[in-house]
Amino acid sequence: MEKGKINVSVDNIFPLIKKFLYSDQEIFLRELISNATDATLKLKHLCDIGEAKLEYGNPQIEIKVDKKKKEIRIIDQGVGMNEEEIKKYINQVAFSGAEEFLDKYKDSAKDSGIIGHFGLGFYSAFMVADKVEIISKSYKEDPAVHWSCDGSPEFQLNPSEKTERGTEVILHIAKDAKDFLEDQKITELLNKYNKFMPVPIKFGTRTETLEKPEGAKEEDPAPTQEVDNIINNTSPAWTKKPADLESEDYASFYRELYPMQFEQPLFNIHLNVDYPFNLTGILYFPKLSNDLNLQKDRIQLYQNQVFVTDNVEGIVPEFLTMLKGVIDSPDIPLNVSRSYLQSDSSVKKITSYITRKVADKLAGLYKKDRADFESKWNDIKVVIEYGMLTEDKFYEKSEKFALYPTVDDSYLTWEELEAQIGELHKDKDGKTVILYASNKEEQFSYIEKAKEKGYTVLLLDSPIVPHLIQKIEQQKDGFSFSRVDSDSIEKLIQKEEHQISKLSEEQQETLKSTLEEQLKDQGFIIQLEALDSNSDAFMLTEPEFMRRMKDMQQTGGGGMMGMGSMPDMYNLVVNTNSEIAQHILDTEDTEQKLSLIQQALDLAKLSKGLLKGEALAAFVSRSYKMIK
Ligand code: ADP
Ligand code: MG
Repeated sequence: MEKGKINVSVDNIFPLIKKFLYSDQEIFLRELISNATDATLKLKHLCDIGEAKLEYGNPQIEIKVDKKKKEIRIIDQGVGMNEEEIKKYINQVAFSGAEEFLDKYKDSAKDSGIIGHFGLGFYSAFMVADKVEIISKSYKEDPAVHWSCDGSPEFQLNPSEKTERGTEVILHIAKDAKDFLEDQKITELLNKYNKFMPVPIKFGTRTETLEKPEGAKEEDPAPTQEVDNIINNTSPAWTKKPADLESEDYASFYRELYPMQFEQPLFNIHLNVDYPFNLTGILYFPKLSNDLNLQKDRIQLYQNQVFVTDNVEGIVPEFLTMLKGVIDSPDIPLNVSRSYLQSDSSVKKITSYITRKVADKLAGLYKKDRADFESKWNDIKVVIEYGMLTEDKFYEKSEKFALYPTVDDSYLTWEELEAQIGELHKDKDGKTVILYASNKEEQFSYIEKAKEKGYTVLLLDSPIVPHLIQKIEQQKDGFSFSRVDSDSIEKLIQKEEHQISKLSEEQQETLKSTLEEQLKDQGFIIQLEALDSNSDAFMLTEPEFMRRMKDMQQTGGGGMMGMGSMPDMYNLVVNTNSEIAQHILDTEDTEQKLSLIQQALDLAKLSKGLLKGEALAAFVSRSYKMIK
């Protein structure tokens, strides 16, 4: 028997491991299974190149839990280790400045692959075990060895009787980690981290129901048999060539990834590059709602089929974190903090590759079947609009497929929109005004007025629209967006011709001061306008700029920091050519005049969906009195 000291630069690394990585305790299993997988794949390679002269066969990895003995065993049939290798790979923990490092990265360590990447993988066993044994037999002729260590830097190394090739790691589970002795817990971990690993992983057995033999009676039970319970799919769809997959394969892989998800994705994008970096994966476009925050964290990141995290921030461009699916790349440096990731040049390349690939796919779908693309638009627009807003490259590419739906359910590209609105939407200064609505119901009367003029009204209703149109205005010279209810119809797109008011200057003054006096507590800016005599007498509008700033503020960011919650701001447009305006002027009785003004104002509010509660009740009863 040999005794010795594990060669680490700090006196005792185990308390360190426990302390800093405690919250991530569960990754011990992933680390040990990764080692077992590596050992198995190494053997396969040695067989392939003829260096190991043996039958590779169908090696498995087995996980065994013995609740009574408080043991977990991870058994593989891989290359194994001889005495020399154990000394070299296990005892010489090549880890300088461990303490310093872990201290520096203790926050990012939680969701990163730090452990695996610094050769500390094996030692993560001590997060859950107070004693660990390794029994290993190399594929070479050397005798088997038995290593054990109780968490102090001291280890023991003995010969072992083991005859089969491979390694068995035995964890004596510590009291505070006894949850890991539950089958259910292990199943959960295997499902989370190992579901798509490349070597079959066995955890217990399961009962399989067989076909009834011919001639069996109705009441005879179907025969059953015990089979190995293999928990993983060793060749998941993303590892295959796109050409070898049918759409059903993508659909069934989606179900495998998200067993609890019943909604089918709209389409998928298969990522596959090996130069200048290595990346594979499948991204799915799910149906999206307008709630952006709910959608995140559904893409899973793998490294060589080992699950790493579902926080892909910094790797996948932010607008695509709303998608689902998997990304697998050995080239993503996970041993660094998130902020470093964003500045890493290979990660930058990965991010821009993904962006380009998604844009190409969308352009392809649009080209192939426009009607189908239009039918999906409302389910995917949030992602596309978000991408247009945040990634300039994507914005450029989106010209080919971004759609602008109208309130009449037609879908226009920017080019088509420009052609359709032409001169009609140009104001007296030659600026083209694009009219839009955000809600067909609420802005109905405003939309109708615009349509009467022959204007095209877009329906832009996703939450990032205020930000996006802001960006489009910056990009496209000579275009501006105005919501249909942001001004009177005459002023939305202001043309040269002047309307003549039926009221004299003096009458207008009187009307304005009367209204200002009567409505002084209501906070409206009163705006007299000589509109068509058939147009509404009173109308409430919300100036575009202030309203847009407010909307932007509500959906986050928006540049107007520190404005608190901005109040709604309405203008009251009074049509001086309307009969009511004349009527208000002509009415002598103060009470009658007031009730007239109130009634007209309420109608304007009603048109905008603003009349509620007590005010609505008062309006209804006043109206009844009037028609009596
Ligand atoms: P890493 O996997 O990053 O190299 P680990 O601490 O996980 O670091 O493992 C250290 C080394 O121990 C491995 O590189 C490998 O050589 C050896 N090793 C660990 N587990 C096994 C195993 N099950 N079979 C064979 N060798 C192993
Ligand atoms: Mg390892």
